[in-house]
Amino acid sequence: MRVYELARRLGMNSKDLVRELKELGVEVKTHSSSIDDQTGEEVFNLFSRPTPETVEPVVKEKVEEKEISSEEATAPPIQEVIITDPITVGELANTLQLTPGSLIKELMAEGKMLSINQLVSADLATKIAERHGFKATVIAHYKEEEVEEEEKDVPQDLLPRAPVVTVMGHVDHGKTKLLDAIRQTDVAGSEIGGITQHIGAYKVRDKRGDITFLDTPGHAAFTAMRARGAQVTDIVVLVVAADDGVMPQTREAIDHARAAGVPIVVAINKIDLPVANPDRVKRQLGELGLVPEEWGGRTLFVPISAKENLNLDGLLEAIHLEAEMLELKANPNRRASGTVVEAKLDKGRGPVATLLVQRGTLRKGDAIAVGLHYGKVRVLFDDHGTEAKEAGPCVPVEVLGLSGVPQAGDTFQVVSSEKEAKEISAKRQATSRQKVFSSSEKVTLEDLYKGIQEGKIKELNIIIKADVWGSAEALKEELEKKGNENVRIKVVHSGVGAITESDVMLATVSKAIIIGFHVHPDPRTKILAEEEGVDVRLYQIIYEVTDDIEKALKGLLEPKLKEYTLGLAQVRNIFRISKVGTVAGCYVKEGKIVMGKSARLIRDGAVIYKGRIRSLKRFKNDANEVPSGFECGLALENFSDIKPDDLIEIFEVKEIAPAL
Ligand code: GDP
Repeated sequence: MRVYELARRLGMNSKDLVRELKELGVEVKTHSSSIDDQTGEEVFNLFSRPTPETVEPVVKEKVEEKEISSEEATAPPIQEVIITDPITVGELANTLQLTPGSLIKELMAEGKMLSINQLVSADLATKIAERHGFKATVIAHYKEEEVEEEEKDVPQDLLPRAPVVTVMGHVDHGKTKLLDAIRQTDVAGSEIGGITQHIGAYKVRDKRGDITFLDTPGHAAFTAMRARGAQVTDIVVLVVAADDGVMPQTREAIDHARAAGVPIVVAINKIDLPVANPDRVKRQLGELGLVPEEWGGRTLFVPISAKENLNLDGLLEAIHLEAEMLELKANPNRRASGTVVEAKLDKGRGPVATLLVQRGTLRKGDAIAVGLHYGKVRVLFDDHGTEAKEAGPCVPVEVLGLSGVPQAGDTFQVVSSEKEAKEISAKRQATSRQKVFSSSEKVTLEDLYKGIQEGKIKELNIIIKADVWGSAEALKEELEKKGNENVRIKVVHSGVGAITESDVMLATVSKAIIIGFHVHPDPRTKILAEEEGVDVRLYQIIYEVTDDIEKALKGLLEPKLKEYTLGLAQVRNIFRISKVGTVAGCYVKEGKIVMGKSARLIRDGAVIYKGRIRSLKRFKNDANEVPSGFECGLALENFSDIKPDDLIEIFEVKEIAPAL
């Protein structure tokens, strides 16, 4: 990018920016000189941050460090970094401004074969940080309650608050249309005359009070937020099209809402259509346990048309009624805390986050810790794009002034100073990881018996995905019968179709295992399940499922397959040999390379091939094995795009005895 373009983004004078860049050691001559994108982004982050004095060294030192390393001169200046314990390879690379690939290589030199998502010990991380000229402070074991507890609310401080609503339902049943239609009913909005802004949530006011709607419909976002520890929604509005009835995602939405313990209000939509059949929807939902009040149940059903604006007021009324029963309260007179609803990097404005205040009141100038970031609230905008001075409980606002872009579902906290905010976000980083990696949180069939014996597990939650409804239903019935006096078996969700990321998220939040019957997860879902430590089991025969569960309950589960690493080689040269194809000249760094075994190729920390060793040579001769410290030539099955510096990992999959 050109300097003047960057200057425009930063709202700075080009000449000043040229001077600043020169001071930082970036080579530029005039305002039309080019700088590479990465440097441009770093400079942008530096100048658009709330407190340049606290972060200024980052770019400065990085630039100096680059020069020094190229000239191999004196040691780079000391810069402090915070290393959370535990830390993953990817995060350490990020903290030390290294590429994951180069860190993985460095770890190998230390005798550690770790992938991007694996953990590095705090000692080793500190050692590596120091080698790169950083002074590391290790932060370990930290409990979020330490921040939360600091100010407890007493009952008399609690005042009624607005309910927060998420709209869910099957695709095309009218969720988006409904959110738009409701937004237009807001009297306050039309009075202000501000243009409605999509900031991720909006507030609707009428004589009965306020309701806050989250603007991202569907259960995927809802559960992803829960998986990050955020329970924002008080009430779910389940949209069911009266012409279509209950569909797979309707069932999913019900299960996701139930797993979260959130009450459901049903909106029967599209009643303007001649083929609309609201009674059928009631019957179908009744079978799923959502029984209308007029049939003796306790679920509120409201017939509406989002398109024709029919009975939207009736729906708002039902939400108010449901909210009344929940007796929702919050203390507005304290420092604010809450959840990130949406966040993005805006080219002109830097990091922008929509925050939903859940306790207290957020004000301009507040020092704030947001997920892994921090800052000072520079400006607040409401959902009409109007600048606001403050935001109380359940009021969504867009804020500027953060050090980085948080994720939806991150929590935020107002604290006394920016320094404290910075410390808290670093500590939060440690907590979140603690949660992710603490094995006690995960449930696997293999550990089930142990969990039962230790009294940790009283209920086994299961998610069933099958190719057809019949199988899903049959499995559900069979499995729920298998529970005994020590452990109850509960199917938290059953559905038809491939195992999706949304299923894995639900499994994470409800500590469930996933059973796939004649279905598979797609590759992304598989990776997510591995990352989240969710036990996904695939079957072809019903009997095998019930048998495994029975055995797991008794601690007799058959061994499951496990991967063992045999060796690791680094590619040094590539030879293209006619008739043979691409042969990689490698150096064996660890273990041994064995002919015919499974292999994966890792480039910059990412696996880009999985297959087998097709041929292995030592000098000109075929070899069965080549041990570490030697060179070899190898070819991979059906893969020729090998490049120097690629890593080839050799492994085999073996059965392991159950861990009892
Ligand atoms: P979503 O996928 O659930 O968000 O569904 P949309 O809000 O995108 O709506 C899907 C389609 O249904 C669109 O073509 C809408 O115009 C239509 N639609 C939504 N609500 C109504 C309604 O009350 N009546 C009729 N006739 N059509 C509707």
